[in-house]
Amino acid sequence: MGIEGMNVRIDRLRARLANADCEAFLSFAPATNQWLTGFRGSTSAVIVTQGDAIFLNDFRYTEQAATQVMGFSLQEVPGNIQMRAGEKLAELGAASVAFEPGYMTVADLDYTKSAYSGELRPAPDIVSPLRMVKDKEEIDTIRAAGALAEGVLADLIETLKPGITERELAAKFEFEFKARGATGASFDTIALFGSRGSLPHGQPGDKPLEHGDIVLLDFGCRLNGYCSDLTRTFAFGTIPGAWFEDIYHLTLTAQRRALEAVGPGKACRDVDAIARDIITEGGHGKHFGHGLGHGVGIEIHETPRLNPESSAVLSPGVVVTVEPGIYLPGQGGVRIEDLVVVTEDGCENLSKAPKELRVLGV
Ligand code: ZN
Ligand code: ZN
Repeated sequence: MGIEGMNVRIDRLRARLANADCEAFLSFAPATNQWLTGFRGSTSAVIVTQGDAIFLNDFRYTEQAATQVMGFSLQEVPGNIQMRAGEKLAELGAASVAFEPGYMTVADLDYTKSAYSGELRPAPDIVSPLRMVKDKEEIDTIRAAGALAEGVLADLIETLKPGITERELAAKFEFEFKARGATGASFDTIALFGSRGSLPHGQPGDKPLEHGDIVLLDFGCRLNGYCSDLTRTFAFGTIPGAWFEDIYHLTLTAQRRALEAVGPGKACRDVDAIARDIITEGGHGKHFGHGLGHGVGIEIHETPRLNPESSAVLSPGVVVTVEPGIYLPGQGGVRIEDLVVVTEDGCENLSKAPKELRVLGV
């Protein structure tokens, strides 16, 4: 991201601050601070007013901040960074300060208040609607992260042998992400075999791969500060039964119809409903208990959410997953997840991995 791009982000935040009638914005959140400044470290404080853009870091990050942060004046501060930020707000004379309540801990707030007596005002939507719409560079980075992770999938599924455990396979994904240039996994890799595929977010364990198992893989990597996310479900050796083919094809139909519906101006809850209605008509409504998808960017789960309660509307540049699933307790499950970017006239599917039911190891 060039300096112009970062300045655009600061200007947009300033406009929102003015609308919210707040004099300053304060954040300690790594994701928000990365989006606003370019900084990819873990600890920092960002203060934005109509006239100032200040970035505070501790000793560990002075060199890194100097190379990554754009558009902000940099200050190294000692000790408690929340208290230093409070002192800075007092010095600036800001009467009201907006913060993102989803990211601010009670302790952060208490330390800040110990040095600043003005008003600290929760503003949940001050930054997230801005972050929701990705620019070209962000989309290209997410596309590259997705391509890297799909390359790992393509190679690893060719090497699967009976006896490998879920945990070993998950570890192979995460080794390959780093070996191929990613920072690491964008979340803990999910690799589930056999009936354990019914656990929507199960943790890989000691289950060894056996002939006739379902193989459910949900994974992504983080590349240059951005996440990817993909799920594919396979059979190993042989299809476990007609029931599996049925729920596989029902899930895939629901996913394809929902993908066709993704576009600018579409309500997230309506896209969710398209997939949910198909799965419900197929008799598995109660086996699809999670939302259809979520935004992806600097964080693996971002605004907007595609679920029955969402009030969000899609617009060009929004990156979301479309991931219906059917989970039969004790028997097994299927989830198929793609990552797409909303365009002017529909969406571009960033996920290229094949989705037709495939039997591995034969
Ligand atoms: Zn996923
Ligand atoms: Zn996901």
